Amino acid sequence: MRKIALFAVLTLLVTPAAPARAADPLEDTVATALRAKLTLESDREIRVSVLRGTAATGALGSAVLPGGTGYPEGWLFLLRDGRTVFEGDPGFADLAQGMTILSAVERRVFGQARPTPTGAAPPARFPAKSGSDYRTALRLPYAVGQSWSYTGGPHPMSGSARSSIDLAGGDGRVLAAGGGLAYRMCDSQRGWLRVVHDRGLATDYYHLAGDLPANGAQLAEGDYVGDIGMDVSCGGSSSGAHVHFSLRRDGAYTPIDHYVFGKWVIRAQGSDYDGYAMHGSTRANVGNRLNNYGALALNQGLVDTDGGTALNRRAGPGTTQPVVGTVADGETVTIACSATGTEHAGRGGYRSTLWDKLTDGTWVSDVYVWTGTGEPVAGTC
Ligand SMILES: [Zn+2]
Repeated sequence: MRKIALFAVLTLLVTPAAPARAADPLEDTVATALRAKLTLESDREIRVSVLRGTAATGALGSAVLPGGTGYPEGWLFLLRDGRTVFEGDPGFADLAQGMTILSAVERRVFGQARPTPTGAAPPARFPAKSGSDYRTALRLPYAVGQSWSYTGGPHPMSGSARSSIDLAGGDGRVLAAGGGLAYRMCDSQRGWLRVVHDRGLATDYYHLAGDLPANGAQLAEGDYVGDIGMDVSCGGSSSGAHVHFSLRRDGAYTPIDHYVFGKWVIRAQGSDYDGYAMHGSTRANVGNRLNNYGALALNQGLVDTDGGTALNRRAGPGTTQPVVGTVADGETVTIACSATGTEHAGRGGYRSTLWDKLTDGTWVSDVYVWTGTGEPVAGTC
């Protein structure tokens, strides 16, 4: 480690403008594999950081396509027996299983990074439920109860997927949106953290200031990952301290539109950086603040009556059943099971006959409960 640091300092002193890397066989192997994967020119710069292991034992690291003025893209890689696989590659999950340099937790979590077949594009309607699963069980990346500025709506990290939003304000302390494994992506070991969660999801935090968690650290939801900052170690630009918060699914940046964080449904609109967010029927535009309500669990829903009126709770799955209470727009409900009942239309004309039985025994139409999917989230009754 010391040798690497010394080398980095010397490199910086000798060639500050265009740092050249010494040839390292393992790094070369990985860079060559990434160039082949992306069909890049042979002189395209790739920054490889070996985080653990050797060519002999197998290795884990990050490979980054630096962004220059644009944003970078980065992948975790595994190298074993001369074979290099990247997050999102079909062989990533399988290769991880036999690697002794990985912890048991890493083998389990990496084993979930098996790409799911690419489905149809998400429907344009809101809540775009049927056939999609936008559940995350993640919060916004700061303390629950704080309200931060939503300074940028969905925009790319790299590529074309509007995977990211910008957030700033509060106490400036960026916290893990959910539990997972932490990895420093940039060769500077600063600025850019990836947290690999369950269910094939990962979140990126960029422009961070301060020391990042150690590579492979197991984070709990809400663990501190750094302060908002202006780090551009691997590319991009920052005009003020903020966190660039990105969503990845199955090893690639994925459009963040429709996904829920901190009980806000993130929405893209128009051009990059436009957009808004919905908490029930409450809308926050870019420039407004987002109160972090905490994670919406996988078996929970947000009441969204498409207008803000209260939602009737009934004794059974249909409007012929007696009203036994109400629940306010924006409230969280926990679902015990679901069944078919009368058909209704919710926000955006979304129609469904699904009704949800709540944990208090009352029933609500699923079209007025944003769960992130049109399917039952806790099984059928
Ligand atoms: Zn950004």
